[in-house]
Amino acid sequence: MLAKVGKKRPLSRYLKDFKHCQTHCCQCGKPLDRMTLVFRGQIINKEAIAGMDQLIDDTVWQSLTKELTALCRFCSVISCNSEPNYFDIKAFKQYLFEQTAMSHSTIREYVVRLRRLDEILAARNYPHDKFEHPTGPQALIEEIPDAGQSNYRIALRKYDQYLHWQRNF
Ligand SMILES: [Zn+2]
Repeated sequence: MLAKVGKKRPLSRYLKDFKHCQTHCCQCGKPLDRMTLVFRGQIINKEAIAGMDQLIDDTVWQSLTKELTALCRFCSVISCNSEPNYFDIKAFKQYLFEQTAMSHSTIREYVVRLRRLDEILAARNYPHDKFEHPTGPQALIEEIPDAGQSNYRIALRKYDQYLHWQRNF
């Protein structure tokens, strides 16, 4: 009887093949020109891939792909490089992509504004329990002068829509 022995190849080979097959960002659907591979929430760069020479077979690879995503630069930055303090920026971004018809560049603008506002709040040590208070992010406008600027105001309004949507989801 022939036992089926899985052919083994280096993990780096699998990853390179995987990279070549990806055409669109997993999170926002944008066609990928420059892509970032993310495994278990960590970005794996070219050098790291080159060093992954352990031999694996298709079965192992299949299980690994469940935790592997190809993202555009923008989505990878939001997913991996940011530690939002107050706003759930990653979920907000996905909401805009999946629940609204906004363009990629508009979404980007909203996300960037909210990230900046998040940094302002962190720099001021804005109390977290106050932020979670049911009056919601709109209350910030009265308390944080920067938040009153129209570009932040608009982003906050969108974030409020997201929170509302999430509550009724
Ligand atoms: Zn993306």
